[in-house]
Amino acid sequence: MAKQLLGKEVTDALNAKLIERANALKEKGVVPTLGIVRVGENPSDLSYEKGATKRAELIGINVQKFVLPEDASKEDLLKLIDEINANDAIHGVLMFRPLPKHLKADQNEICNRLDPKKDVDCMTDLSNAGVFEGRSDLGFAPCTPAACMEILDYYGIDCKGKNAVVIGRSNIVGKPAALLLLAKNATVTICHSRTKNLKEVCAAADILVAAVGREGFVTGDMVKPGAVVIDVGINRGADGKLHGDVNFAEAAEKAAYITPVPGGVGTVTTSVLVSHVVEAAAKSV
Ligand code: NAD
Repeated sequence: MAKQLLGKEVTDALNAKLIERANALKEKGVVPTLGIVRVGENPSDLSYEKGATKRAELIGINVQKFVLPEDASKEDLLKLIDEINANDAIHGVLMFRPLPKHLKADQNEICNRLDPKKDVDCMTDLSNAGVFEGRSDLGFAPCTPAACMEILDYYGIDCKGKNAVVIGRSNIVGKPAALLLLAKNATVTICHSRTKNLKEVCAAADILVAAVGREGFVTGDMVKPGAVVIDVGINRGADGKLHGDVNFAEAAEKAAYITPVPGGVGTVTTSVLVSHVVEAAAKSV
């Protein structure tokens, strides 16, 4: 039976360091502050916002919320981002994406309006270039794949020379997860909806990262004995509960390590977000 990689253990360790860093900044007169930009009332955005706010309070950093109506125009949003850019009291910005449908065509322009120094969740091209080049000086990686790496790091799982397979190629999870694993010297394969022999490719993975968005997609026969399984998926099941992309019972029979859902990657993601805000605040001094 696999050992569970518990988000709480990782966040407890991270939080302790963050509280110390935030306090040191406060002594210098800087209160790390996260600005949250939300357009509309998407339930999953609201749920993430609640978690991030709670985590920020625990660490002792401020949160300022900027909420625009669902039908806000591109100009409204750009004006808000300009105001936030000019506000020295806000160090990091989380803007929920995808934006409502009528803003989708302009999402790239809107994301890139943010000052890259405040881009704590990798929505500007410069931050993405940083992930691509493996240069943390250019920007922060997206919080979810960074959380996967935090988990591996906390549990002392060395990626060097391992076969890592990432299922999913989204810009926000799959692709950056692959690049972060590559930066840790894993040999990386990215699988997606057009991949052939998916089961065989996954079954050869020493580290398997599932970011598909389909409940129970990864079955036991896709897991190599002794593998590390990181489940990024968050799916609301027919039972009303949250489920991962991995069939936990089957995968846990074969893997050496596995993250549960809930209680795995999602738990660490908000702590990573707060850590990026603290880091951005430290750089601003
Ligand atoms: P997405 O829909 O943008 O991407 C899904 C990816 O899965 C695509 O690249 C697609 O090619 C691939 N895919 C779909 N069907 C496939 C198939 N049959 N075979 C192989 N690949 C297939 O989703 P996303 O934004 O990358 O999110 C992925 C999952 O992670 C979702 O469940 C989402 O809720 C979750 N998520 C979790 C966190 C967190 O903090 N834990 C954060 C963001 C997203």
